[in-house]
Amino acid sequence: MKKASGERPRHIAMDQFQVRDNCLLVGDIPLPRLAHRVGQTPFYAYDRQIMTQRVETLNRRLPDEVSLHYAVKANPMPAVVQHMSRLTNGLDVASLREMRTALDTGTPPNKISFAGPGKADIELRAAIAASVIINAESAAEVARIARLGDSLSIRPRVAIRVNPDFQLKTSGMKMSGGPKPFGVDAEQVPALLRRMKSYELDFQGFHIFSGSQNLRPESIIEAQTQTLDLATRLADDAPSPVKWLNLGGGFGIPYFPGDQRLDLQPIADNLANLVREYRPRLPEAEFVIELGRYLVGEAGIYVCEVIDVKESRGETFAVTNGGLHHHLSASGNFGQLIRKNYPVCIGNRVTGADTGPVNVVGPLCTPLDILADKYSLPRVDVGDLIVVFQSGAYGYTASPQDFLSHPEPIEVLV
Ligand SMILES: *Cc1c(COP(=O)(O)O)cnc(C)c1O
Repeated sequence: MKKASGERPRHIAMDQFQVRDNCLLVGDIPLPRLAHRVGQTPFYAYDRQIMTQRVETLNRRLPDEVSLHYAVKANPMPAVVQHMSRLTNGLDVASLREMRTALDTGTPPNKISFAGPGKADIELRAAIAASVIINAESAAEVARIARLGDSLSIRPRVAIRVNPDFQLKTSGMKMSGGPKPFGVDAEQVPALLRRMKSYELDFQGFHIFSGSQNLRPESIIEAQTQTLDLATRLADDAPSPVKWLNLGGGFGIPYFPGDQRLDLQPIADNLANLVREYRPRLPEAEFVIELGRYLVGEAGIYVCEVIDVKESRGETFAVTNGGLHHHLSASGNFGQLIRKNYPVCIGNRVTGADTGPVNVVGPLCTPLDILADKYSLPRVDVGDLIVVFQSGAYGYTASPQDFLSHPEPIEVLV
């Protein structure tokens, strides 16, 4: 017997967006009207109110002693970064261009940190001149920062990014533990710290980021607990007291059928305990968590338009003017091992009788250009607006826009 469809895992409701007259609303504007306002499809639309609510919820739960930073690489649109800069305590950047965007918001430089392996001299010089905190990723980089600081007669603000001796379990992307291009191996840090005493550097503390896209509170709790323990041990060899400790982030959002929203409360409770426990040993430290997708991912949609509807050997294909060149993550080609569908809907006909599974594809001449594979949707017509949810992070800038030379999507913050 066939299983009832209710037993199969489903996408959780995309209830962060409201619906009126069967049209999706972005910032209270019905999607067809927003499409006219934007002036073209495809486009990305980000809802500032959803971002604001997300940060307010976090701030209510997190202990007062933990600062919240926005990781700009998740969505570096200048208007978004400006908005996030007002809501959060600081910005984390990973390139010179991101740093310029962050500085343009008026965020003070000591609330901006710059991480990333392979920073060029020109980037380090700019970061030193700006007085942002540089998260040094290797011993050689520390030496280069000291030399460039001397040449500019500025004492650089430096933190050591540590590659911890543990892993964030069940993380979507593992970025620590084992051999990694990121950070200095924990076991090499004490010697580096002792050497730093001879450099003219303004030592800030540590940056320990163990991974991304985690939906299990117990894994995040374990990582944060181990992070504080490690930072406290490393502080013994530091050239000066730890002023800044970036505990990483890794809070995930639900993308796929069966995923649930992260339960914040146990994480917040654990952080409050950790702050109490470790405060005496790190009396001057500002504790920071850095989040990207958790703050902006659910606030964004990608919108494209149906150009053609066709049947092929029993399957329905809705061919749109958008695809993997704009939204690599949703096509399943950005770090997914097995392709799964992002939640999608028809933005101008959100509910209606399902007429069977539809393949939503893009205009590129490659079988990889899939936005939704055998997805239950109401009747699809030419001109309908296909919405891909959970697209506020790692969408526009994580995609190969030039592949096949189609026009670029527009981005709007509503
Ligand atoms: C990418 C990155 C982040 C943001 O990760 P999200 O999954 O978007 O929260 C934070 N910190 C560092 C060091 C990163 O490289």
